[in-house]
Amino acid sequence: MSDALISLTHVDKTFASGTRALQSVSLAVAPGEFVSILGPSGCGKSTVLRLVAGLDTPSAGQVDAPAWRDPAHARTAFVFQDATLLPWADVFDNVWLPLRLAGISREAAAPRIEALLAQMGLADFAQAYPSALSGGMKMRAAIARARVTDPQVLLMDEPFAALDEITRQRLNTDLLAGWLAAPMAVMFVTHSVFEAVFLSQRVIVMGARPGRVVDTVTIGEPYPRTPAFRTSARYADACQQLSASLEAAMAGSAA
Ligand code: ADP
Repeated sequence: MSDALISLTHVDKTFASGTRALQSVSLAVAPGEFVSILGPSGCGKSTVLRLVAGLDTPSAGQVDAPAWRDPAHARTAFVFQDATLLPWADVFDNVWLPLRLAGISREAAAPRIEALLAQMGLADFAQAYPSALSGGMKMRAAIARARVTDPQVLLMDEPFAALDEITRQRLNTDLLAGWLAAPMAVMFVTHSVFEAVFLSQRVIVMGARPGRVVDTVTIGEPYPRTPAFRTSARYADACQQLSASLEAAMAGSAA
């Protein structure tokens, strides 16, 4: 894909332990595209994100992403399953952190932070400390912090896996609303077929041992995707298609 923002071309990754995490992985993500990576544990999903973020190097093949092209100016943000908020700072200061590190004052940053907190449903919690927040609210703060620098690439590694289903669905909806308001390339790692279908334009299915891409499924549903999409026949069909693809991926793995 020549207009790709991110591409992996025949990427192998073998760790020093001898574990072959990725074998000839090729994939591409366009600017502003929402792509999920779906697959069983150990198929190399996190390794793909780390390579895209420039946190690790391939053993063979090529990785091309903003973090590789221009590390000093790459706007690449990462959200993990653990919200990793600073416990001694309130929500406002946690979200300010990436801008503060870039030399932007609290006053100059305030309008952006307040807008993001409002968008993420945290307007009344700017002064709350992480210990006072539910798991879902902590994750909302982590997403606001990731988006505060207006990233070109947002990497999300099973961000909602520890949350209950209702909270997860609400976060899915709010994440998409934020993405529609300011499109960025999102690579979203998940175990959940249902989450992948709800969120994504495209789902890359991976198999394990060694990790490889086994299928790519396009989800044609237009945005905005409302909760009503979850109960539609189109959603059920897409989930069925993706489940079959995941089953095939797992059957082909020596798990
Ligand atoms: P996933 O995110 O799909 O669960 P990972 O990318 O975390 O998979 O890991 C892929 C494989 O590489 C697994 O077998 C894992 O144990 C192994 N692995 C990941 N990181 C390292 C590392 N730093 N050293 C050795 N092996 C690793």
